Amino acid sequence: MELKDLYRDVILDHNRVPRNFGRLDAADAHAEGHNPLCGDRLTLTLKLAGERIEDIRFEGHGCAISTASASLMTEAVKGKDRATIRGLFDRVHALLTEPGGGAAGAELGKLAALSGVREFPARVKCASLCWHTLNAALASSATPVTTELPDEAPSALGERLTEKR
Ligand code: ZN
Repeated sequence: MELKDLYRDVILDHNRVPRNFGRLDAADAHAEGHNPLCGDRLTLTLKLAGERIEDIRFEGHGCAISTASASLMTEAVKGKDRATIRGLFDRVHALLTEPGGGAAGAELGKLAALSGVREFPARVKCASLCWHTLNAALASSATPVTTELPDEAPSALGERLTEKR
């Protein structure tokens, strides 16, 4: 079996049976991605443990490339920390866009199956949508989700408000 055929089979398999498909309840971070060129839409939900992605799900609808790419990504990033994920993002980006990007494939495991997308520039955004969406989700979680107000009695707060007037 040629490598090209193997890669195609991985894409078809992940499109047919997407891994980590669904939505996490009480997620620590989420983001929505839309690729208007193709109509791909996806929503990511993440559970974080410090710097690590403890769990991740995606849902949405899109073409075979966007679905397979999101499925492969969830498998690749689960359990990884932010720094590792940034490195993966860079390598996937190189794989998809740079003429010699195939060299990045060696360290990418199954993600290397996306290398064929490089020959179809119009589909690159289909494959990278999930990664950009993941970046957005991680960026949104970098700022605390809950804002803690100083512990003070309502009357003290009232006094402070009247002082400002
Ligand atoms: Zn697409």
